[in-house]
Amino acid sequence: MGNRFQNEETTMKCVICKEGETGTGKVSVTLERNGCTVIFREVPADVCDNCGEYYLSEELTEKLLTRADAAVKSGAEIEILRFAA
Ligand SMILES: [Zn+2]
Repeated sequence: MGNRFQNEETTMKCVICKEGETGTGKVSVTLERNGCTVIFREVPADVCDNCGEYYLSEELTEKLLTRADAAVKSGAEIEILRFAA
């Protein structure tokens, strides 16, 4: 097997401020669908150490959207969920 990157934890330059680098953190994500507000807490994300912008993986985004849809269908106007992987 060839060498893999030593650091598996991905850091990337923030595309918003172009100054900071992202590191693992937890954020609150707010989604609005059809007048329903869904807030997810403690969502694992890559967070910029400079401006605080966060980046979610595609897989995670999909999970959040699925859960948001479920909340919308339940008829709640506002729903606060603690994210659990
Ligand atoms: Zn930034």
